[in-house]
Amino acid sequence: MTTNAMAVPGQSYESLRDEVRGLVQSWRQAGRYSPSSDSWLRGFDPEFSRELAARGLIGITWPTAVGGRGLSNVARLAVTEELLRAGAPVAAHWVGDRQIGPAIVRHGSERLKAEILPGIISADYVFCLGMSEPEAGSDLASLQTTASRVEGGWLVKGRKVWTSGAHHATHIYLLARTTRGEKKHVGLTEFIVDMDSPGIAVSPIVDLAGEHHFNEVSFDEVFVPEHRVLGEIDRGWAQVVEQLSFERGGPERFLTTYPILAEIVEAPAEAVADVAVDVGQLVARLATLRELAWQVARALDAGDAPVQQAATLKYLGNAFEHDVLEVARKAFDGGHGRRGRLGGSGFRSALLASPGYSIRGGAAEVLLSLIARQEIM
Ligand SMILES: Cc1cc2nc3c(=O)[nH]c(=O)nc-3n(C[C@H](O)[C@H](O)[C@H](O)COP(=O)(O)OP(=O)(O)OC[C@H]3O[C@@H](n4cnc5c(N)ncnc54)[C@H](O)[C@@H]3O)c2cc1C
Repeated sequence: MTTNAMAVPGQSYESLRDEVRGLVQSWRQAGRYSPSSDSWLRGFDPEFSRELAARGLIGITWPTAVGGRGLSNVARLAVTEELLRAGAPVAAHWVGDRQIGPAIVRHGSERLKAEILPGIISADYVFCLGMSEPEAGSDLASLQTTASRVEGGWLVKGRKVWTSGAHHATHIYLLARTTRGEKKHVGLTEFIVDMDSPGIAVSPIVDLAGEHHFNEVSFDEVFVPEHRVLGEIDRGWAQVVEQLSFERGGPERFLTTYPILAEIVEAPAEAVADVAVDVGQLVARLATLRELAWQVARALDAGDAPVQQAATLKYLGNAFEHDVLEVARKAFDGGHGRRGRLGGSGFRSALLASPGYSIRGGAAEVLLSLIARQEIM
C-alpha cells in the first residue's frame, strides 16, 4: 500500500507543515531520533524542543505582545499533526505549549505572563501537571492537597500522583484546595510552582512497559509566592475544565499510534494483504477524527471552551488507537513469519502503554458522561 494516511486535501498552512516535515526529516537522517508512538509523553529531548523554539514553533497561538506569533489554533494543529505523525520527541515542551501557556494567556496576571511565557516559548521551561492524587483522579474536585495563606503567598501540603515528566520538569501546574466549603468544586485554586522549591520531592513510578515516565510528587509545606496564583482564587474549577479542552481536544488523542499505522500502510501490499480492509477503515476514521480536531481548534480560536467536543474527540480517538493496535497485532504477527520484518515503529512498547491511553486525561467512562450531558436535539 502506498496511500498517505495523512493526505487529507484542502488544508492551508502548508508552509508550516513543510517546515516541520523538513526539520523532522533532517533529524531522522542525522540519526538524532527514531519515530516512536506516544512521543508526546515519552519522547523527551530538550534539544529538539529548543530547535522548534528557535524556529518560532512553540507558543504560536499566543499574542505577539507576549512573544507568540498570534496564529490560530488551526495553524498550531498543522504543526502538532506533523510532529506526531513523525513520532518526534516533543514531550519536553508539550504540556507548556498545549495547555499551561494558553491558560496563562487567558487567565494569568501580567506579572505571571512576563515571568513564565518566555521560558515556555524558548523551551527552557518544562512543565508537568499536578492534578491527580491518590484519592482524586476522575473525581478531581475531591483532591486533598491544600494551599493555606501565609505572609506573601501560600503554603502547600499534599501529594500528587501519576505526574508525567515531573522528574524532568522545571515547573509544575498545581491544583490545590484553598477554601473548604459545602461544594467541592468551589474553593480550588491553580498555581505555577518551581520544581526546585524547598519541600518538593519526586519519586518515580515505573509503568507496565518498565519505563519511568510518571511520578509521585509530594509537597511538604512548600512556599508559593502570591504572584504564582493562576487566575482567580477559589475559582480554579472553571479554569481547569477549560484547560482540559486544550488537553483532550488535540491530535495526540488519535495520532499517538500513527507511526505504527504508517508502517502498515507503507508496507509492501502482499505483506499486509489480510488487513487491507481494516486499514481502509482506519484511514477513513482517521479522516473523521482529524475533522473533529479541526472543529475543536476552530472553537478554541473563537475563545470557547469546547469541553464536550474535546471529550468526544478523546473518546473516539482512544477507541481508534486501540483498533490501530489490534490491526497491527494481526499485521505484525499474523502467522506468516512477518515478525521481525514489521513492528519497528515501537509496536511492543505501544501495546504495553496502551491501557493508559483511555485513562490519562480523563477515563473513557467519565468522558462518556460528559458527552451524554450534551443537549439532545
Ligand atoms: C499514562 C498516564 C499519564 C498520566 N499523567 C498524568 C499527569 O501528568 N498529571 C496528572 O495529574 N494525572 C495524570 N494521570 C492520571 C489520570 O489523569 C488519572 O489516572 C485519571 O484521571 C483517572 O483517575 P484514577 O486513576 O484515580 O482512576 P479512578 O478515578 O479511580 O477511576 C478508575 C476507573 O473507575 C471508573 N470510573 C471512575 N469514575 C467514574 C464515573 N464517574 N463514571 C463511570 N466510571 C467511572 C472508570 O472506569 C475509571 O477508569 C495519568 C494517567 C496515565 C494513565
